[in-house]
Amino acid sequence: MLNKNDLISDLCKITNDVLINEAECYAFCCDASGCECGKNNALAVVFAKSVDEITDLVKIANKYAVPIITRGAGTNVVGACVPDKESIILNLSKMNKIIDINPQNMTAKVQAGAVVADLQAEADKHGLYFPPDPSNLKVSTIGGGIAQASAGAKAFKYGTMKDYVLGLTVVLADGKVIHTGSSTIKNAVGYNLSSLFSGSEGTLGIIAEAVLKLIPKPEKKVVMMSYFDAIDDAVDAVTMLIKNKITPCTIDFMDKNSLETVEGFKHTGILTDRACALIIEVDGFMQAVEYQINLIRKILEDFRADSINISKTEEDYEKIWEARRSSMAACARLKPNVITDDLVVPRDKLSKLVKGVQDICKKYSLDVCLVGHIGDGSVHPQIPIDISDKDEVSRLKSAKSEMYELCISLGGVISGEHGVGKLKKNYINSVVDENTLNLMKTLKKTLDPRNILNPDKIF
Ligand SMILES: Cc1cc2nc3c(=O)[nH]c(=O)nc-3n(C[C@H](O)[C@H](O)[C@H](O)COP(=O)(O)OP(=O)(O)OC[C@H]3O[C@@H](n4cnc5c(N)ncnc54)[C@H](O)[C@@H]3O)c2cc1C
Repeated sequence: MLNKNDLISDLCKITNDVLINEAECYAFCCDASGCECGKNNALAVVFAKSVDEITDLVKIANKYAVPIITRGAGTNVVGACVPDKESIILNLSKMNKIIDINPQNMTAKVQAGAVVADLQAEADKHGLYFPPDPSNLKVSTIGGGIAQASAGAKAFKYGTMKDYVLGLTVVLADGKVIHTGSSTIKNAVGYNLSSLFSGSEGTLGIIAEAVLKLIPKPEKKVVMMSYFDAIDDAVDAVTMLIKNKITPCTIDFMDKNSLETVEGFKHTGILTDRACALIIEVDGFMQAVEYQINLIRKILEDFRADSINISKTEEDYEKIWEARRSSMAACARLKPNVITDDLVVPRDKLSKLVKGVQDICKKYSLDVCLVGHIGDGSVHPQIPIDISDKDEVSRLKSAKSEMYELCISLGGVISGEHGVGKLKKNYINSVVDENTLNLMKTLKKTLDPRNILNPDKIF
């Protein structure tokens, strides 16, 4: 039988930065999934500030056989850091230092709780750039991003969070500290253990620090927004861009519903009477950017795009991005909750996916705002609902199952960047075969035999 007082007394020996009040703890039992605010299962919330404090915490969790749910900013959308049973919440938001930027090596060393936008700002001072940018980059953390294999709008050209990890300091479930990778750009020594923790959702180890790759800051960046009367035209235009060997850093998409919803919320001046819009960003050397923008404009026009708006100032640039990044917040205005999803298919199947998702939502009388990283073949159906309406929740569940079936039938998977967490674990065996899933489970058992780290997530 767990003695909560003893546990708390031991935790307070590590740090005095511990919350034990139930009301305060409850705030850390939720995430941004919109429906996964579980029971108040947080026994305590511990704000660790060093690798040693994490290690001590893990030892205490083992002593009392209590799970640890590690948390960055808590912005994942799949219930990945919601405690299903009585747990200690390890909050890393105060372990947020950017320890070092090395301009010559083009690397950064950060604590896991460092915020993505803060790293970008710090890198910028040295003429460097960290491309992975989830839409909520001003709050989400590097540790959360690595653990959730997150991406963002720049993946088409620059890849995702996992592509920037050179090395990790990880506290394992038994309290041992390991150092994966190195600070070098290349490393061919043994297994690539860093990749094991990418997408592990806090179930295999606690990432305490990371060494990350940076790239030179592009000299110029320009974003353009264009509108189409037919989704097929937009998808065909993207295919033609790629055929022409143009590599924008972003090729994003917003459907009519999301354009209308965002404009109703933000008034950024976007058009609301077209079937969809593309948001395309190009960066690089000034002349190369201008050359590509002209080519892109020509291709877009060939596919009947109109009202093409190309950013000329930083203000224009931010305005276009504000519209795109506000989609989830805007959607949340329509109903008490907004449930977002994350489907990815081979790019040539994208228009089938988009139309299929729209049809499924229509069938179940659900509103949907569709945005996505169309260049990566990925869409986010954002569905405003009221989770107290049982009928609506049941329709949502049926719609989601059909969306996943559709996505899989098109050769896709059920997450490109949001992860599995609690919400999608029942679907994992539809995209991961039995042997592979068993290997994943064996890895979990090997690294965490007592199931201390974020139990019951992913599978
Ligand atoms: C408005 C909005 C927009 C978003 N846009 C995008 C987007 O464009 N692209 C995208 O990919 N995602 C997006 N997301 C999802 C989310 O932002 C990402 O998954 C994000 O990277 C999570 O970071 P976090 O710090 O909030 O992690 P958390 O939610 O705190 O944690 C996520 C998972 O990682 C684990 N974890 C956290 N820190 C650590 C650590 N140090 N060590 C081990 N495990 C850890 C947690 O246990 C949990 O399982 C968006 C979310 C919102 C709400």
